[in-house]
Amino acid sequence: MKRWITFDLDGTLMQNPFSGSIFPELEELVSADLNEPCGLKRKLLEEHERLLASGQIVSAYDWDEIVGRLLRELGVRRKVDILEMVRRHSVPPNIFLLDETILPALKRLKRSGFSLAAVTNGFYKYQYPVMKALGLTDQLDEIVTPDRVGCAKPDARMADGLRLEGAVAVHVGDRLDHDMVFAHAIGVPAVLIHRRLPDALLPLSPGERAESENLLPVLRRLASQENLLPEDAASLPDRFMPSYVIRDLRELFACLEAEKNRERGGERGGSGT
Ligand SMILES: [Mg+2]
Repeated sequence: MKRWITFDLDGTLMQNPFSGSIFPELEELVSADLNEPCGLKRKLLEEHERLLASGQIVSAYDWDEIVGRLLRELGVRRKVDILEMVRRHSVPPNIFLLDETILPALKRLKRSGFSLAAVTNGFYKYQYPVMKALGLTDQLDEIVTPDRVGCAKPDARMADGLRLEGAVAVHVGDRLDHDMVFAHAIGVPAVLIHRRLPDALLPLSPGERAESENLLPVLRRLASQENLLPEDAASLPDRFMPSYVIRDLRELFACLEAEKNRERGGERGGSGT
């Protein structure tokens, strides 16, 4: 029986080249075709958000399709090869790991006997070149993507293949709607990674942070960025609430320790975890 830890990729482990490199290049090419600024990057991101908001999560990450559609709407005949652009831009500084604790933490988890999987809503063909260039493919045992399994987070079926081989210990991610909801859907602790925590939360354990009043403004801001509810909404639904909050992957070990203690009958997130 494998013991899986599942990770989101974008915003959790790595920065992909889309918004920083590929979209600006496309915008420049298309603006030149049209002889005027076309605001393509904004249009692409708006279309992505529109598809997410309407529940078309798999389509929201199908960049060949989205780019092709917008170019047709703009009357541009240019053929764009997104995969070629992903490969060309998958070099630093266009892509990077989000902090220096990631590779050491993944290696340590593997030494501790965990199997590691990426569970991402990005398509395999776009994610793999980035992961490969950043050294992530050497550490991850599985890569679960919507184009391979036919659904996207937060659909619990994303974990079906992993669960045939073992149990998922925790899921780690940066989004409430995809990652926290997914973790709850598969019944495992939801670990929120957020690299800009308010100072008041820093001395607390990952479990204590999840219970703290000081976390609420952070969660409300995320919910608003993800278009989930107005920033002044009185309360957040349970499905968005993390079980643990970490600011880098080093802190994941405290969560695993707390889970071990909890399984032995202790309190989640107690002192000393
Ligand atoms: Mg993410």
